[in-house]
Parts: sequence; structure tokens; C-alpha cells
Amino acid sequence: GQASLLDTFDGVGRLGDGTPLDLLANVGGARDARAAAAAGAQGVGLLRTEFCFLGHDSEPGHDEQVAAYKGVFGAFPGKKVVVRTLDAGADKPLPFLTDAAEPNPALGVRGYRTDTTSPGVLARQLAAIADAAADSDAIVWVMAPMIATAAEAAEFAALCAGAGLQAPGVMVEVPSAALTSRHLLDQVEFASLGTNDLTQYAMAADRQLGPLAALNDPWQPAVLALVRATVDGAAAQGLSAGAPPKPVGVCGEAAADPALAVVLAGLGVSSLSMAARAIPAVSAVLRSVTAEQARELAARAEAAATAGEARGLVRAALPALA
Ligand code: PEP
Ligand code: MG
Repeated sequence: GQASLLDTFDGVGRLGDGTPLDLLANVGGARDARAAAAAGAQGVGLLRTEFCFLGHDSEPGHDEQVAAYKGVFGAFPGKKVVVRTLDAGADKPLPFLTDAAEPNPALGVRGYRTDTTSPGVLARQLAAIADAAADSDAIVWVMAPMIATAAEAAEFAALCAGAGLQAPGVMVEVPSAALTSRHLLDQVEFASLGTNDLTQYAMAADRQLGPLAALNDPWQPAVLALVRATVDGAAAQGLSAGAPPKPVGVCGEAAADPALAVVLAGLGVSSLSMAARAIPAVSAVLRSVTAEQARELAARAEAAATAGEARGLVRAALPALA
């Protein structure tokens, strides 16, 4: 009921049958991180590092970067913090990385792709992350945005190794990455689904355009199928390597929708990262279902013909949302 949705989160993400599901926070800097820790987040699933340096005309220096990252790590001693390397793009330009004259910025040189046009920036960022991590008690993972191919994943992993960073990962936010996650996960240790961009690219609908909001809906069955493909690819990679599947989390806005969080859990993701204020409501609804019920709802949502049908049938099946 309503009262339980307003409860504060007790720091343990799980389904009703005890199946664990880490509930992490999306943050843009130290202030967000402290608020997320106070709200009980189990760690940070997405540190959007570009938010630390918005408005900078030039690349931030090493010490400035180390200080920014340490401010976040310090809020989560002993906990996981996933740092996303700079994702300058149309929606958040960084003058030292972004070419404002690109005709089609969403399809342009953004995210990991800026490593080719601005060589060295990424390696220097990884060095600063490594120094900040070495001087903190957080468990630091690093991931690259806008990875489209296994070759890019391999390059990023090599850069991380060069910086002494142990746990490289990739964001899955381009449909090609979702469809080839098996090969990406041969190169890196984890994947994190960025459903904001994954939806934009699956539906060919600019996420910034209000008139396209109905297309830009992560309940679209095509988006759910891409989530499924990513998780299936991780399972296949694990099988072929004779190891457990590598973790696949979600760090897009979809994770903050309690009904969709149930579907994502049912599709097999292992963590959800969201704005910290969304965690209590998501936690409450996750605890109202078993893993088996989540899997059933996920299958029904994926089989729906439309986003509205998927959303409607899942919400109707969740008394906690009534
Ligand atoms: C995403 O694309 O879903 C994501 C988490 O990254 P951002 O919103 O920063 O592009
Ligand atoms: Mg993104």
C-alpha cells in the first residue's frame, strides 16, 4: 500500500522470495553521492563523470579530477561505485570534447567515440580514477559509454588495464551492443544497460524531443527484447567460458519505474541503478513479487504488442501499485 512505498529503504535490495537485487544510485558528483548514501543506496551504479565538469572550457587537470572522484568514493566506503567515463554528447556538451557543428549529434562522436578525436583524454581520466580509487575504500568499477562493438570493448579493457583498473565494463545503450553482448562480455567484466539511449536508438527517436515521447518509452516491446538479448548473451558467454554469467545491470530511467523494475528483474538483470529518491518505491514493489512471478510478468510484457499493453498488464498484476 501507499504507506510502505513511503518507507525509507533499509539497504537490502531483494525480491519477495529473498532473491537479491542490488539497488544502486545514479549520481553526478559528491553532493548526490552523500544524499544517495543517506537514502540507503547500496552503492553507485552510475557516476556520470561529465556532470563533474560541465561548463569547463578545457580538460580538467589530474588533481581536480582525483578530487572530484574521491568526493564520490568517500561516501561509499566498502561499497561498489561504478564510474562512467566521460559521455559528452548533444544533451551535455563538454567544449573540450564535443564538436558543436555535428549535423546529427546523437549519432556522432560522443561517449567512448571521442577517444579517436581527442586522444589521451580517456587515458588521463582513467589514470585519475585509478589514483582516486587507490586512495579510497570504495570498490571502484569503470565503464565506457556508447560502446557499439566488441573491438571497442577490447580497446577500453586494454586502456583500463594500462591504468591498473581491474574491473572494466561497458554500457549497453546501442542496439548493436545488446545484440552482441556475448562478444562484448568476452572482453570486459560486466555490462550496464543504459535504457535511455537504448530506447532512443532502438526506436530511432531523439530522447530530447517531446513529440516523440510515446516512441521513447522503455516499455516498448522492442526495448524489452534488447534487454532480453543482452542477458541471454551474458548467459551464453558464461556457458562458453565455463563460468557464471557476468553481471548485467540497468542504469537508465527504466530502473526507477517500479513496475518496469519488476520486469527487468524478471528478465534477469542483477542490479538496478536509479535516482536515489526512487529507491524506496522500487524496493517496496520488488519485495511484493517472487522471482518466478517476475519472470512470468517479464515474459508477458515482452510478448505484448504495444508499450501500453505491456505497462497495463504488469501494473494490473501488482497489487502494491494499485
Ligand atoms: C542511458 O543512456 O540510459 C544512461 C544511463 O546514460 P545517460 O542517461 O547519461 O545517457
Ligand atoms: Mg546514455
